[in-house]
Amino acid sequence: DGHLYVVATPIGNLGDLSPRALRVLSAVNAICAEDTRVTGALLSHFGVRARLIALHEHNETDIAGKLVARLLAGESLALVSDAGTPLVSDPGFALVRASRAAGVPVMTVPGPCAVVAALSVSGLPSDRFVFEGFLPSRRGARRSRLEALADCRDTLIVYESSHRIAECLTDCAEVLGADRRICLARELSKRFEQSVTDTAARLCQWLTQDSNRTRGEFVLVIEGAAEAERPDDAEHILRVLLSELE
Ligand code: SAM
Repeated sequence: DGHLYVVATPIGNLGDLSPRALRVLSAVNAICAEDTRVTGALLSHFGVRARLIALHEHNETDIAGKLVARLLAGESLALVSDAGTPLVSDPGFALVRASRAAGVPVMTVPGPCAVVAALSVSGLPSDRFVFEGFLPSRRGARRSRLEALADCRDTLIVYESSHRIAECLTDCAEVLGADRRICLARELSKRFEQSVTDTAARLCQWLTQDSNRTRGEFVLVIEGAAEAERPDDAEHILRVLLSELE
């Protein structure tokens, strides 16, 4: 049987494509790509010629069956997205699930992933984290989601686009609190990589000081709720202390 290789590609710096990724992409019968132009450009940079199949959110459930048939017939396929690790806020879930269900070996060629890259440079607690992908794009829905996450003690990570980063940070400051510490990481591994960790309120200001700061791709790494910020806990501790006094 063929194998399905889930291959991570660079999130900015082309030097981050691993030698093994290159070998696998050169060797497979075809590469399923989120956008064949984007992957075509990456491959031509490395001098790799390959057959490309478009696999994106609009067609992946439809074509997964056909691709599994090819895998079962003995072809090997690679799955890539435009940047980073497939399936992480990117297409591929339908194909991976269908392949596994059919007994096709699914192998990883790990590599860049913006959520892990941002967490690892943020200086915020990294032992536990919750990845939220993209928050809802509409303000009301985004604020409700943030409210639902406000008491979570784990580090919270979200992806955000340049045209919503300012609104999103403002909502973080208003819903999670002006003093909540956040790492704003932009353009990771690229020429203008920047990561700044500060309070939500100060980051909102920082963003307005230079219009270049709202450009590019963003990850927000948000420190989890502190114990002291939880009124329920404060009350609980008080009750315990009072009961000791009785
Ligand atoms: N699959 C990708 C991964 O493994 O990280 C994520 C794909 S998602 C559609 C794209 C989002 O990831 C961007 O809007 C941004 O939030 C984040 N992102 C991707 N590359 C980035 C980079 N170089 N710097 C900062 N954020 C990045």
